[in-house]
Amino acid sequence: MATAIITGSARGIGAAIALRLAKDGYDIALNDISEGMFENNDIMDKIKAEGVQCEKYIADVSSHADCENLVKAVKERFGSIDVLVNNAGITRDGLMMRMAEDVYDLVISVNQKSVFNMTKFAGAVMMKQKSGRIINLSSVAGLYGNAGQMNYSASKAAIIGMTKTTAKELGSRGITCNAVAPGFIQTPMTDKLTEEQKKAILNMIAMKRYGQVEEIAGVVSFLASKDASYVTGQVIEISGGLSM
Ligand code: NAP
Repeated sequence: MATAIITGSARGIGAAIALRLAKDGYDIALNDISEGMFENNDIMDKIKAEGVQCEKYIADVSSHADCENLVKAVKERFGSIDVLVNNAGITRDGLMMRMAEDVYDLVISVNQKSVFNMTKFAGAVMMKQKSGRIINLSSVAGLYGNAGQMNYSASKAAIIGMTKTTAKELGSRGITCNAVAPGFIQTPMTDKLTEEQKKAILNMIAMKRYGQVEEIAGVVSFLASKDASYVTGQVIEISGGLSM
């Protein structure tokens, strides 16, 4: 049985991706930063109900050492790592002129360095297997920038460069690496926006609605599938036509 690791997967887009990959037949390694994220949360039960195995791993993906231990533990438990989804991400928004250095550094560390950490360790396992799929969560903020998100948009733009670099470094070993760039998806992250912000955003979207987490998970499932075997180094925007 093939195995998928999805970082930051206790809730939101990560949980939806984990459930979708379970439906596709993967054993699932869930990850989140604290045990509390899995309390009052039925994601593990939903995944196991699909007839696959599922374990949760508490690790801070901004930590190089945590990621090394996480990958080691998953490899020992499941025997292979076939899909890595670098999903964990945070926002700490504020206008650049008022943004404190530690707030900038934290977002870069969680959103961007985590991709280096996980890709390095899981990529090493995939190189030995001579196969693997790596899917990174970028954002429209990384493609177009967003006022109030200097830190977040920097991290998400960097992920696009990291995706292409990974595709070039690991392609000859049968490993693909692609990114998805969601637009505005209904999650706790977007629930934090003000009504005024939400209205302005809907005006810009051709489909005049937010995306659902399952609509991100579907594209990730495609990128992990055999049908995407010759797709690598690409960024797929999933935004309901935010920008055309
Ligand atoms: P979410 O609901 O906040 O879920 C992210 C999960 O990652 C949370 O459970 C979070 O835990 C966890 N996490 C945070 N820091 C971590 C760390 N250092 N190590 C391990 N886990 C950590 O976010 P989401 O909206 O589903 O977003 C998922 C991904 O999609 C992110 O990369 C985000 O940037 C991207 N994205 C989202 C949207 C959107 O509209 N929602 C749009 C574009 C891109 P805590 O709650 O404890 O922080």
